[in-house]
Amino acid sequence: MGNDRQITVTTPLLPPLEEFTPYLEDIWKRKWLTNNGYYHQELEKELCKYLQVPYISLFTNGTLPLMVALQALRINGEVITTPYSFVATTHSLWWNGIKPVFVDIDPETCNLDPDKIEAAITPQTTAIMPVHVYGNPCDTKRIQEIADNYGLKVIYDAAHAFGVNVDGESVLKAGDLSTLSFHATKTYNTIEGGALICKDEIMKRRIDYLKNFGFSGETSIVAPGINGKMDEVRAAYGLLGLKYIDAAIDARKKVAECYREELKNIPGVRLMYDIPGVRHNYSYFPIFIDAGQYGMSRDELYFKMKEKNIFGRRYFYPLISTFSTYRGLPSASSGKLPVASCIADSVICLPMHHELDGNDIERVINIIKKRSL
Ligand SMILES: *Cc1c(COP(=O)(O)O)cnc(C)c1O
Repeated sequence: MGNDRQITVTTPLLPPLEEFTPYLEDIWKRKWLTNNGYYHQELEKELCKYLQVPYISLFTNGTLPLMVALQALRINGEVITTPYSFVATTHSLWWNGIKPVFVDIDPETCNLDPDKIEAAITPQTTAIMPVHVYGNPCDTKRIQEIADNYGLKVIYDAAHAFGVNVDGESVLKAGDLSTLSFHATKTYNTIEGGALICKDEIMKRRIDYLKNFGFSGETSIVAPGINGKMDEVRAAYGLLGLKYIDAAIDARKKVAECYREELKNIPGVRLMYDIPGVRHNYSYFPIFIDAGQYGMSRDELYFKMKEKNIFGRRYFYPLISTFSTYRGLPSASSGKLPVASCIADSVICLPMHHELDGNDIERVINIIKKRSL
């Protein structure tokens, strides 16, 4: 029964412990634990290089950069966003007293459908907050055109898009600001952590004030900030993690290629379309089940997998717009979000991480092919 090892949907990219100890010893020696310390500065520098972005500001998680981005641009009124995301996207609007306006998604990319944005713009609209779902780049050109025509800001929730490039350009440079999450479950992690990416020095300074209570000096407060700072231990961990990220992405790529090859012709199982010119990070491997054609519902398959100790994730399900906080909004009715509703009811993200071996992959493929139900 060795075959029944638990296969989890993800596993954290953990650097070897013995390589982390010297970093800890150094931090103990320096006795500088947080507030823009040595490792914090190093990680910002190294991430700018790795991600090919001009400015980055580290945060203690991936939700605070969303909240601070909205503050930094003084967004208010209504913001157009997607119901097909992790709840933090919409919560960041709520915490800023902003009304989320949900717009349906494109079934091919699972991202905000640019064709549907304009109809949702009102005199109160101030920004668009799209998500690069599963690391698939949004149609950033179309979204920028709309934003430019209407004078709107664009904040990308790029929590899934670490290291994603389109035609050699980082997708993190699109829009006014982009946010990242370095949560333990993401492709690159600092256990908890996140970042806000911007294009100029003035914005970088404003963000750095806002994440440190608004302090600009020992005794001066220039803005009503919050505490979003990343500490030295996690910054050092992140610095070490950068040495392993490329190998982890390569390993994920091999898993994705295997899945893609083996699962491409199964009736009732749809795979994500592979957008040309994109350097992926292989953060997730979603499949979409058409119950009629497949002969089994998404949930039946999901629970069958569980019985075999294979853990997928119905991600994103349920839609954000169905949660009690948001369900009363005019834009939240499922009649207005037919594509997102259908996708949320058919998706399973298969196990996807750098430690899956051939045997694990075969077990996942066998169950999807109904060889081992
Ligand atoms: C993970 C995630 C976040 C939040 O990140 P945390 O680091 O967990 O706060 C926000 N948006 C999306 C799309 C995410 O997947």
